[in-house]
Amino acid sequence: MGILEVKNVSKNFGGLKALSDVNLSVRENTVHAIIGPNGAGKSTLLNCLVGKLIPDTGSVMFDGQSVLGRHPYEINQMGISRVFQTPEIFGDLTVLENMMIPILAKRDGTFELNALTSIGSQKDVIERAEHMLEEMSMADKRHFHSGSLSRGDKRRLEIAMCLSQEPRLLLLDEPTAGMARADTNNTIDLLKQIKEERDITIAIIEHDMHVVFSLAERITVLAQGTPLVEDTPENIKGHPKVREAYLGE
Ligand code: ADP
Ligand code: MG
Repeated sequence: MGILEVKNVSKNFGGLKALSDVNLSVRENTVHAIIGPNGAGKSTLLNCLVGKLIPDTGSVMFDGQSVLGRHPYEINQMGISRVFQTPEIFGDLTVLENMMIPILAKRDGTFELNALTSIGSQKDVIERAEHMLEEMSMADKRHFHSGSLSRGDKRRLEIAMCLSQEPRLLLLDEPTAGMARADTNNTIDLLKQIKEERDITIAIIEHDMHVVFSLAERITVLAQGTPLVEDTPENIKGHPKVREAYLGE
């Protein structure tokens, strides 16, 4: 059994079937990619995993526990952390200040910005944030304005913020979207490093096949809200249905 088990999940938006009968099993400590054309339902599926959307039918189990009906912050506390399609950092804050946010966040998922102004008394928080930045090779940028970082470094910071919560499952929605090749390659290396150094499962939605084939151990192809096939990268590459439906051949 996988650490994440999705069974018969369907989600409609009005008359539109965004997901129909989706099954997905993500094995612990693997990198599992979910690919598929635009509008296939990938982000909708991710939203169902983190409590942003509630499926109309089906079940979502994480480590044997149902996530359905739970608040996003509860699911986060269960060990699922998610990186959004567009970076969600505060551009006006420094790298270090952003890094402190998830460490300072209250157990109910709320955060008061003025907590940052009393940081003199939060030495341990600063230390933890600095330690995390060191692990992520960002220590030299800790006083930079986050808004001035490259796309790759914004993503790196955001991933660091997620990892500070020590998730067991990291979800990423198109983490390299809009990146130049160098930043994309840095992101690939970063995710490889994270995988090597931690007990973590990674599920990644990705458009860039170079990223997918560099990282994934299993791949699920989603088309029109339904999984077309789930297999190893080698088998996916040669799969006629995939070539037809996804690669447009
Ligand atoms: P993907 O991430 O694979 O590109 P999405 O999950 O974003 O696909 O979208 C799947 C389908 O559901 C698309 O047709 C999209 O327009 C539709 N959709 C997504 N979110 C909503 C929403 N909140 N309301 C209505 N339709 C939506
Ligand atoms: Mg999407």
